[in-house]
Amino acid sequence: MRLTKPLYVILTLVVIVASVMLVYFQFFARKQSSPAQTSCLANLRLIDGAKATIENEKNMMKGAVVTKDQLLPYLPFGWPVCPKGGEYSIGKIGDSPKCSDPEHSHYQVPPD
Ligand SMILES: [Zn+2]
Repeated sequence: MRLTKPLYVILTLVVIVASVMLVYFQFFARKQSSPAQTSCLANLRLIDGAKATIENEKNMMKGAVVTKDQLLPYLPFGWPVCPKGGEYSIGKIGDSPKCSDPEHSHYQVPPD
């Protein structure tokens, strides 16, 4: 199929406009969900803190498995809940806890 020149120019413009809109809306969506992400990150830090405490108290090795029931006594406000309904996976000792929400999954608790 051979495209005429005006059609080729229009298609190129459509692709450029679509790309710009995609980048813009990704940025916009990210800014909008920021409070939920911040709150989720705070929850992940709480879980990570509880893991660090139990690691020290029970002399756990890196890679040891901890359960939610083991961590609950170290979480004064109970098990944190993701504002977007994500599920928290604790991860092993030495690994960062994670949220199942795809918008939060990029969070990594910084190593200390
Ligand atoms: Zn989350």
